[in-house]
Amino acid sequence: MTDARRAIPRTDLVLADPRLAPAVAALGRSLVKDVVVRAQQRAREGLVAPAGVVDAVLAALPARASSLRPVINATGVVVHTNLGRAPLSEAAAAAVADATGWTDVEFDLRTGKRARRGRGALTALAAAVPAAGDVHVVNNNAAALLLCALVLAPGREIVISRGELVEIGDGFRIPDLLTSAGSRLREVGTTNRTHPRDYAEAIGPETGFVLRVHPSNFRVTGFAGTPDDAELAGLGVPLVVDVGSGLLAPHPLLPDEPDATSALRAGAAVVTASGDKLLGGPQAGLLLGAAELVHRLRRHPAARALRVDKLTLAALEATLLGPPPPVARALAADVADLRARAGELAGRLVAAGVDAVAVPSAAAVGGGGAPGVELPSAAVSLPERWASALRAGRPPVVGRVERGRCLLDLRTVDPADDGPLREAVLRCG
Ligand SMILES: *Cc1c(COP(=O)(O)O)cnc(C)c1O
Repeated sequence: MTDARRAIPRTDLVLADPRLAPAVAALGRSLVKDVVVRAQQRAREGLVAPAGVVDAVLAALPARASSLRPVINATGVVVHTNLGRAPLSEAAAAAVADATGWTDVEFDLRTGKRARRGRGALTALAAAVPAAGDVHVVNNNAAALLLCALVLAPGREIVISRGELVEIGDGFRIPDLLTSAGSRLREVGTTNRTHPRDYAEAIGPETGFVLRVHPSNFRVTGFAGTPDDAELAGLGVPLVVDVGSGLLAPHPLLPDEPDATSALRAGAAVVTASGDKLLGGPQAGLLLGAAELVHRLRRHPAARALRVDKLTLAALEATLLGPPPPVARALAADVADLRARAGELAGRLVAAGVDAVAVPSAAAVGGGGAPGVELPSAAVSLPERWASALRAGRPPVVGRVERGRCLLDLRTVDPADDGPLREAVLRCG
């Protein structure tokens, strides 16, 4: 062994260094130890001086005990599945922080007795959709559909249009989800067109329910069509409508996107939706519908396996009652403001010697809904090679590569992040 190697301090000595005490307290000994071992390895390779091991550890320590890092979403995709879908509002994040400890999620502080779990979130959801007789919340929309199949069509048929056999993403398919619950699919119609009579002819003693699934991540145009919800609600069996995106009421900017209130008014027995798409809240599955039916969904044994935790309930309630969440703000952002911000950012970058230019852009709602809808936007355009450098930055910035340029689309960037975004770009320069 060389002298330099012999001089590398032992792991327990490094861990006992007082400069690392705050990190051990905040991150835990085992996580800090892993960083120490890596720093010692670098010292063995001659990349770090033996006396510099503690400094190397300090430089390499993560900010938190989780590997998930906050990212600036400059893709222009508002509900970006790979970036965690909807970012929580500050109100929702604060509610989550409050609920992390002991909390009265299932306890009545007045009587000292057990209370209905998550009643605040459920009351807020019911108030947001008066057309629903009752509401329930599960882990995600897939769980909501699974529960519908288990309760309404165990060993029986679900009537569904061939145009609505949707793959959600990552290889998961709604038809497979439903058959995994023990239901059989009765496919009707064709890819592009399904008529009311197709449904009517398929309904019989084996039918559990008719299911409508919103084709949320693709669009069939041209010679295409399916019946209205109202036509399907009158067929004598329950109609379940998966609206996907989680809009509770019609959205003025997204006129073609289905919503829970309209589906219920048209006669749907149950509507299912995601909490973390256009609603802008935590991952959750919303079930809204006739009171008796929602009661059966809530009492099915599998409901316990699909239930949400207190953090989700806290975030959902604050999303529903609090100020508009980031998704709503991004959708509503005025394009003139976005242009002004892009011009300002590009100007500052050019002044610092960066090859940047403000350009018009087209943002998108994302896999969460409204396929084909373009949201007019504004971006700062950089040479393509910036894309990977920005992703490696602190904080990481994810842009959109388009026609050989890296676009930083400001529709999905909170105005409060304009400064951090600019600094992140300048650090890469
Ligand atoms: C996104 C989506 C789902 C899946 O929802 P999760 O909340 O991710 O489980 C199901 N159906 C439709 C129509 C969707 O858009």
